[in-house]
Amino acid sequence: MFVFADYHTHTTYSHGKGSIEDNVKVAIEKGLREIAISDHGPGHMGFGIKRKKYKEMRNVIDQLNVKYNNINILLGLEANVLDIEGNIDIDEEMMEYNDILLVGYHFGSKPTKLYRDLLMHFHNYRSSKSDYSYKKVKEINTISLVNAINKYSIDLITHPGAKGPIDLFEVSTNAKNNNTALEINSSHGHLTVDEIKLSMNVKGLEYIISSDAHIPTDVGNFSKAIERAELSSLDISRIRNAE
Ligand SMILES: [Zn+2]
Ligand SMILES: [Zn+2]
Repeated sequence: MFVFADYHTHTTYSHGKGSIEDNVKVAIEKGLREIAISDHGPGHMGFGIKRKKYKEMRNVIDQLNVKYNNINILLGLEANVLDIEGNIDIDEEMMEYNDILLVGYHFGSKPTKLYRDLLMHFHNYRSSKSDYSYKKVKEINTISLVNAINKYSIDLITHPGAKGPIDLFEVSTNAKNNNTALEINSSHGHLTVDEIKLSMNVKGLEYIISSDAHIPTDVGNFSKAIERAELSSLDISRIRNAE
C-alpha cells in the first residue's frame, strides 16, 4: 500500500514544531504528491491558530505551490467540534481560503455555552475512568459529530473516538451519507482495527490515512495506520489517499 498524500499535518501556526515549508520539504522527500497543512482551529484555548493568520497561511501556501511544482499543497484546518449543536470554529472568511476541512473533538475547545460545554469536556476527560461519564458523554459526542457532519461540508473526521467515546456506527452512517471520510490516524490509536472492521460494514464509507505530524520529520509517517488498515482487511479502494 502506498499512501500518496498527507492531509493532516501541523506547524508552528498551532503547536507543531516546523514551518509550512519544512513540512512540504519532508513530504517531497518521501515522495508524496499532495500535502495539507491542517493546524488546529482558532476555537482551541491552548493551541488554536490565530484567526487573522489564516490569510497569511493561504499566501504562504500559494507561494510555495509556485516554488515547488512536484507537489500540490493544500490549506486545511483541523476544526474543533464545539458543542452538541455541531458548531465548529471556522468562519466564512476562513472558509473561502480553505481547501480541505478536517473536524475533530479536542479537550480545551472554547465552550459556546459555558457550564454545559465545560461539563462535556469534564466527562470526556473522565470517560476512560468512569462508567457514568462514559455513558453520559457518548451520546453527546455522537450527536455533536453527527450534527457537524450534516451542517458543514466536512472532508474528514479526525481520530474518531480518540478523545471521547462515540457511537461509531451512527457517525459512520452519517459520514457516508455526506461523503465525509473517517481518519485512520497514525499518531493516535484510532480508528483501531476493531473500529475499522465495524465501520467497514457501512457500505460506501471511505477513509483517509494520515500522520497527524507535529514535527516535520513525522510528515508521511503512516506505518501504524497502514498496519491497522491491513490487519482489518480494509479494501484499498475505500482509502482515498492510498494505491
Ligand atoms: Zn486532533
Ligand atoms: Zn491533529
